[in-house]
Amino acid sequence: MANSKAYFAFRIEGMTCDGCARHVTKALEAVPGVERAEVGSWKSGRAVVISSPEVSSETVMEAVRKAGYAAVLLERRSLEAEKQIPSTGAGFDLMIIGGGSAAFAAAIKAAELGARVAIIEKGVIGGTCVNIGCVPSKTLIKAAELCYQSAYPHFEGLTACPPPSDWQRVVAQKDELVAALRQEKYVHVAGQYPNITIFKGEAKFAGRRQVILNGETYSPGKIVIATGSLPWAPPIPGLQEAGYIDSTQALSLSELPDSLIIIGAGSIGLEFAQLFARFGVRVMVLEGQAHLAAAQEPEIGEAITRYFEEEKIRVCLNARIEGVARQRGRYVVSAHIDGKVQECEAARVMVATGRRPNTAHLGLESAGIQTGLKGEIVVNEQLQTSNPDIYAAGDCIGEPMYVYVAAYAGGIAAENALRGVGRVYDLTALPAVTFTDPQIATVGFTERQARERGFLVKSLRLDLSNVPRAVASRDTRGLIKLVAAEDTGRLLGAHVLAADAGEVIQEATLAIRFGLTIEDLVNTFHPYLTMVEGLKLAALTFAKDVTKLSCCAA
Ligand SMILES: Cc1cc2nc3c(=O)[nH]c(=O)nc-3n(C[C@H](O)[C@H](O)[C@H](O)COP(=O)(O)OP(=O)(O)OC[C@H]3O[C@@H](n4cnc5c(N)ncnc54)[C@H](O)[C@@H]3O)c2cc1C
Repeated sequence: MANSKAYFAFRIEGMTCDGCARHVTKALEAVPGVERAEVGSWKSGRAVVISSPEVSSETVMEAVRKAGYAAVLLERRSLEAEKQIPSTGAGFDLMIIGGGSAAFAAAIKAAELGARVAIIEKGVIGGTCVNIGCVPSKTLIKAAELCYQSAYPHFEGLTACPPPSDWQRVVAQKDELVAALRQEKYVHVAGQYPNITIFKGEAKFAGRRQVILNGETYSPGKIVIATGSLPWAPPIPGLQEAGYIDSTQALSLSELPDSLIIIGAGSIGLEFAQLFARFGVRVMVLEGQAHLAAAQEPEIGEAITRYFEEEKIRVCLNARIEGVARQRGRYVVSAHIDGKVQECEAARVMVATGRRPNTAHLGLESAGIQTGLKGEIVVNEQLQTSNPDIYAAGDCIGEPMYVYVAAYAGGIAAENALRGVGRVYDLTALPAVTFTDPQIATVGFTERQARERGFLVKSLRLDLSNVPRAVASRDTRGLIKLVAAEDTGRLLGAHVLAADAGEVIQEATLAIRFGLTIEDLVNTFHPYLTMVEGLKLAALTFAKDVTKLSCCAA
């Protein structure tokens, strides 16, 4: 057949870093007739190549050898067979369980491949991000920021919390935005693909390829599980009896409490702590670790603690919660803080101790699908579960739980399920942002992680008082920390605490992904009076004292 393709899988030997993986990818892509080459990560030691049928495995292996590595052929097959997407009596080539971001990405990819697709959603279409996650939380955070800045334009001399603003109106505006985006980005989008059908109902497995929905059994060609995650609370004595709110309820409180205790200070805990404090709620954060944002560089945790305390948010670190009780309509949390048990009282308690994959009621056992300790569906690097006909994507496969990761995974899962093309799920250079003010944004290794991986490391920290954008904006809160390989100068990690850190981090993400060095950052133009210029200044600090430079880092 004129347009048939060849699929190869190779084991690649000799790769020791992400740069090696990129060299091998380039070498593979340069082979005449190769249409696509993917090397998941150097650790995976695997490459997948899709090419025209006349390309031989020897030619590909020779190209890898010339690049300085060795390739061993694991599999070669024709992709002709996959052109006929499997279909069954039920009429669906792909059934997707869940109707959030991973599911939509999978459905659109599958529809583009010509498959007939079913999405099954038991709740509200669109899933977490648009309904109860990214969108509503970020719009409330923006509203809180505006309210706070209008009360305290210069963030100085703060002695009391700003007055509560019109919370109900803000929540109503948030609900309008959510409804509009859900309609535009999910309902309308699905309507543009005639081969996507959306079912309402709860799906459950009844066999290796049988799904029960609303009393009917379906046997689709392939299945993608994209059931997301749910807020998780640790087994704290008295917590369930006393009751608490999670992030979903916090987004829609009918009225603001006068005070709030937040247990847990990861991204969600931090974002909500500042959000409510800025609406005038007295907020206390109880964190079991030694720093806020414990997964980040300690400098960032220390700085954000300081800024929170400046906003009158009470931060208790190394807190061990002993119990929660309800007394006279209020909540009392007993916790070991600073070596003694303290009783902390508030009108509400919010638990923000992470999320767990939503997989408990799917009947996964009957489909032969394995799960891990936290209920996450176990997948290989192509997102295939222990049942070869079933793939999984998004929060239900565990950390990292971000919407852009879920959407990326959904597309890969659908393509691999329908075409068997072996696309690899590759999380190299994954940026992450916490939407506090200032924002926390990171990519790559922390200094400690880099050392643990055996790198000889050089690192430095630049305070934002050295960055003209921050000075001009009269907000010099924050810092930039860069981690680089001592020998090559390659950037290994970037950690930014700054207004707009989420924008700044993208340059560092590209730099890490494409193996750039500190020198490359220094030698690249950065517009004056932008926050991203701070990255260049931080890079320059490896060689120079930036306080002795004129403007534009000259
Ligand atoms: C407060 C908050 C803020 C966040 N902010 C950000 C952010 O700023 N940036 C970011 O990248 N990420 C953010 N996230 C994370 C992000 O929202 C998730 O990672 C992402 O939405 C997960 O997408 P998903 O498709 O895997 O799951 P979901 O979007 O949760 O979709 C799963 C869907 O499956 C349905 N379902 C479950 N079981 C069944 C069943 N048996 N049958 C049928 N349907 C079923 C559920 O009802 C749900 O709608 C945030 C999350 C929260 C909670």
